[in-house]
This record gives sequence, structure tokens and C-alpha cells, in this order.
Amino acid sequence: MAFENLTQRLSKTLKNLTGQGKIREEDLQASLREIRLALLEADVSYSTVKKFIDQIRQKAKGQEILEGLNGAQQVIKIVNDELTALMGDEAVPLNKSEKIPTIIMMAGLQGAGKTTTIAKLAYKLKRENNARPLLIAADVYRPAAIDQLEILGRDLDVPVFSQGTDVDPREIVKAGLAQAKENKNDYVLIDTAGRLQIDAELMAELKDIETIAQPDEVLLTVDAMTGQNATETAQGFANELNLTGVVLTKLDGDTRGGAALSIRDVTGKPIKFVGQGEKPTDLDVFYPDRMASRILG
Ligand code: GDP
Repeated sequence: MAFENLTQRLSKTLKNLTGQGKIREEDLQASLREIRLALLEADVSYSTVKKFIDQIRQKAKGQEILEGLNGAQQVIKIVNDELTALMGDEAVPLNKSEKIPTIIMMAGLQGAGKTTTIAKLAYKLKRENNARPLLIAADVYRPAAIDQLEILGRDLDVPVFSQGTDVDPREIVKAGLAQAKENKNDYVLIDTAGRLQIDAELMAELKDIETIAQPDEVLLTVDAMTGQNATETAQGFANELNLTGVVLTKLDGDTRGGAALSIRDVTGKPIKFVGQGEKPTDLDVFYPDRMASRILG
């Protein structure tokens, strides 16, 4: 699909505005329609788009066009600033506990990238904080998940606590935390089970693990490629868990990443990191301004 650059589109709809001095509501209609389309194409959810467009209309109408800008540039500036503000303005770092260990629990649907993200976080913590993390393999429903975590741990030289697939994940978490205490690990990263979709049993298990582990950070991994569903998924998890942040994975794919905007909108939680590939090094801090540019295209 040829995605026409929003700047070009708006330049067309707002060309009459040049030299007029003020942005008038009637001039805005066509531009707002283009912005609406662009956001929907970028996978921003319908309700977030509607809210956002109303905000832009309020902000833009009657504004004096700044010197050096034409109408299109001015509207794009407003859209860009608002998008950035909605996504939180600043990057938000990982929470850190006063005393060791800092406990990070991962949640998300199967295939969203939990296990991969744990390896990425462990690598990052090791490299940047000289940390000694312990990984806990509590996804007992997908046998390959434990092997996958163990292989990743071995590659990164990070210990993995596992008890196979026959032990209740709640017990695994308790035992893993005890081991972390004994070994004085400064970070614990808990891999949990996912499902193809949210179900009551999964949520009950995750809530129990949350209660047992009292995590400093509950990170939801969401696959950015799932488009409009990404927002629904995030809402579903946010309703049940005390999420502290979101990791948006697979942004190396061809999505424009609009899910970032609606996930932030519906959950109110910051997106802390983005996954940009399958390797442990492919994790980046989330910068709202960069994401705004990506969404606008
Ligand atoms: P889990 O079921 O949530 O633990 O998901 P996994 O960590 O096993 O990831 C599912 C698949 O997505 C694997 O093939 C990963 O390599 C892949 N994956 C995870 N994160 C990313 C990412 O940021 N980019 C890409 N391209 N692939 C990813």
C-alpha cells in the first residue's frame, strides 16, 4: 500500500490557508479528515482517534499561523505536539526497588514476545547496570518456553530458575524468589504464561503471581503488528493487573505503531520499551516524540 506522506496530504488540503493569518474551522475540516485517516491507517483505535481529532480541532481553530510556517505546517506541528504529549512526552525508565531484588513480572498473550523481551531486559540490565539478574521460568503451559528461556539465559550467561512443567507456577515463583534472595540477585525477571486470547484462568494465575511476587514492575508485552487488537488486549490486561508499563514488540515490522497511542490512552500506563527485532540487543527505550513522527509518517 502506498502511504501518502501526511505532510503532503495536509499541504494539499490546507494550501488555501497560506497567508491567511488564522486557522479557521472550515479550513480545518479536510485536514482533520486526512489526519483521521492517517491515524486509522497507523492502527490507532477508533475511540482514541475520535478523541484525538476533537482535541486537535479545539486546539487548532482560531490559532494564528506562526511566522515562517504555513497552515499545513502549523497543523502538523499541533498534531505532532499533541501526539507526543499524549504518549507521555518523556521516556520512562524501569522502576527500581530500594532493596534487592527489583522484581519484574512480564505478562502478555502467547507469541507477544514475553520470553524474548526478558532476555533483552536481562542483557540491558547486565550491560548498563552491571546487574546480576535471575530469570524465573513460570510459563508451564508452553513447554518450549522453558527451553527457550534456558537457552537465552545460557547465551547471556544469566541464571534461569525452572522446575519443569509439572509444578504450579505460583510455587515456581515462590521458590525462584527464595533462590534469588539466597543468591543475592539484584533483579528477578518472571516469565509467565500467555494464551492466544485472554481467559479467566490465565488472569487468575497472573493475579496470584502478582500477589505472591509483589513486583516493582508489571510489564505488559504487546505485539504492535496485531493492530486494533493490540489496544483491546492491553485494556483486558490493564483491567486485571496493576500494570506499571508496556513493551511494544515487533516494531521492526511494517506497522506504523499507532497502537502505542491508543494503548497509552486506554491504559494510562507508559510504554517503556519497544522491541525492534529478535536479538537480545534489539530493545530500545520508547521516545514519544520519535513515535509521533513514525505514526504521522
Ligand atoms: P511469548 O510467547 O510472549 O514468550 O513470545 P516469544 O518471546 O516466544 O516471541 C514470539 C516470537 O516473536 C518469537 O519468534 C520471537 O523471536 C519474536 N519476537 C519477539 N519480539 C520481537 C521483536 O521485537 N521483533 C521481531 N521481529 N520478532 C520478535
